[in-house]
Amino acid sequence: MPSIALYVHLPFCEHRCSYCDFNAFAGLDHLIGPYVRALRTELALWAPHFAGFRVRSVYFGGGTPSRVPPELIGDILADVREEYRLARNAEITTEANPSSAEAARFHELRRLGITRISIGAQSFHDDELHVLERTHSAAEAEAAVRAAADAGFANVSVDLMFGLPGQDLQRWRENLERALSLPIAHLSCYALTVEEATPLAARVRSGRVAPPDDDLQAEMWDEADHVAGSAGLRRYEISNWARPGHECRHNLVYWRAEPYLGVGAGAHGYAFGVRFADEPSPQRYIAALAADHRAERLAPGLPLAMPQVARWERQPPDREAADALWLGLRRARGVDTHEYARRFGRAALARFVEDFAECEALGLLAREGCWIRLTRRGTLLANEVLSRFVAPDPEPRARLQGSPA
Ligand code: SF4
Repeated sequence: MPSIALYVHLPFCEHRCSYCDFNAFAGLDHLIGPYVRALRTELALWAPHFAGFRVRSVYFGGGTPSRVPPELIGDILADVREEYRLARNAEITTEANPSSAEAARFHELRRLGITRISIGAQSFHDDELHVLERTHSAAEAEAAVRAAADAGFANVSVDLMFGLPGQDLQRWRENLERALSLPIAHLSCYALTVEEATPLAARVRSGRVAPPDDDLQAEMWDEADHVAGSAGLRRYEISNWARPGHECRHNLVYWRAEPYLGVGAGAHGYAFGVRFADEPSPQRYIAALAADHRAERLAPGLPLAMPQVARWERQPPDREAADALWLGLRRARGVDTHEYARRFGRAALARFVEDFAECEALGLLAREGCWIRLTRRGTLLANEVLSRFVAPDPEPRARLQGSPA
């Protein structure tokens, strides 16, 4: 039976962090109830279309999913269990911010069947957290990880950011070492990027904050790989390290370019050869799913109509093949070219032969048997290397979901 990953977007935050350009909102907590009702309607509308799929993972992302009361998370999960074929050993993740109020809910989340917690620590230095306008302290981040472990979570992930204003290599190493001294099975490390229209971008433009230094960020990534490797975590994707058997099964679906369903404001999905995205505004999303506002929005070439989908985009076969290649190359093991040719045809693979040869000559890609993967140098220059394989996109491509906030 084919399988899908299910992403549930909960876009509520206490405060908007200075670097954040995610589809997340502060001050909308009064909408949590109606929003969850709309989510449950969306799940019910999609369910018949995915009757032939097994759901192997569920990922509550945001936003700050742990702001949503556990009983409402429980209602969503009960619907998933009732309306979908949820695999018995499904990985069920929720992102959480490390405030003490949220940590107090971990026992309840465990009882509801959540199997994995991803904690957005970002730094273990209070001054760095202050620049990012995070609402928690380093001590709270540490306490939250311990609370998750105490609540029985054997699969706790921490996210850190590097290349922060004023951060040098030594302070980054301290963040890594502190994270790895905690009971975690998974670590995600993301380079700070300054996104347009964020308060951080305004500070960089005005010269009050220095922009990230590419060379230093490369050194910091290298340090992360070294320190995490020494602590027994293996890198399995450009930004992700895990103890054996604790790789994030949900995110692996994205990197394998397999189908997934995203529900919630701004959530994306990919199935039946079509990419789709829901209304990004929570208010419009709720209105679209209210019974008296239902208007059908037809998918191109499919017997599918959904009131909350803002954009459908049929994927030409060459774009699906290109996506599978660059996403697959994000994985440390790379792409199995035999399997790729079986899935997309030998002609699809042949289109990239010259790029492969050029990148190999430059030391950016390496082959081992039927596998092709980024070298260490290629990983440090991943944006440049992978962009060679991205098919031209008529509309800006959304970020992968499930990347921790
Ligand atoms: S970075 Fe995360 S916690 Fe901060 S505002 Fe964005 S979604 Fe919310």
